[in-house]
Amino acid sequence: MTTPAHIGKFTADNPGIMTLQGTNQYVVGKESVVVIDVALSADSNLDGIIEQVEAMGATKIEKILITHIHSDHCAGAVALRKRSGAKLGIHRSRKGYLGGEDFQYDDNDRIAFGGGELHVLHTPGHESGHCCFYEGSDKVLFSGDNILGYGTAVIHPPDGNMTDYLTSLERLLGFDISLILPGHGPLIGKPEAKIREYIKHRMEREQQVLAALRSGRQTIGDITQLIYKDVSAALQRVAEFSVQAHLEKLMREGRVKREGSRYLLLSEN
Ligand SMILES: [Zn+2]
Repeated sequence: MTTPAHIGKFTADNPGIMTLQGTNQYVVGKESVVVIDVALSADSNLDGIIEQVEAMGATKIEKILITHIHSDHCAGAVALRKRSGAKLGIHRSRKGYLGGEDFQYDDNDRIAFGGGELHVLHTPGHESGHCCFYEGSDKVLFSGDNILGYGTAVIHPPDGNMTDYLTSLERLLGFDISLILPGHGPLIGKPEAKIREYIKHRMEREQQVLAALRSGRQTIGDITQLIYKDVSAALQRVAEFSVQAHLEKLMREGRVKREGSRYLLLSEN
């Protein structure tokens, strides 16, 4: 599976435990292009994006879109806007966040650019204003941090929400997608299988959380310790956020209640 010729990528130099090889910043279009996500404001990063634009034979960055407001996706957006003269967009719920946006978008908007358009899909879960962008002519989904090239997305309550996240994943199954281009990691050539794997993984985790509650574990720390047996210290907090996100989903469904720092099963599930 290769990326269509009118889609380019420049990966930011911000590798790490959460960002994998770095943030993928995409260029979409022919003469007048859209840039999706700008991770860093450093000149070297903006140079890399602009060189990618030029390598594709394009002459102008028309718009900049961001998948979500975590800094590894938007910290360079205002700098690229200033340098290129592009119009910068952001999800409606995050209006003013970057200070310097030109327009907002919301679910199901179509964002036109030279010769093409992107369909905005508001996909909360990882971040409440998170958007994916769907390019219908080549059936490509720019998935941001909703779906990664490998590993799983972090759901960090309270803004991160497991119920919303699973709803967003289910919704994506309704689109005809032949390629996913994620915010981190390599492209995904079997989108439906990947989305189903992501949903299955979360449902298995939920079962593990329920089993831990049944076995008498009641706090996020104890439940995490039981489920994530050999998680590194660096990922311990991330694992705890994930457990918390699952517990909040179960509370929303009336299956678990919270008393202080303890979580209790309400009925045998
Ligand atoms: Zn990210």
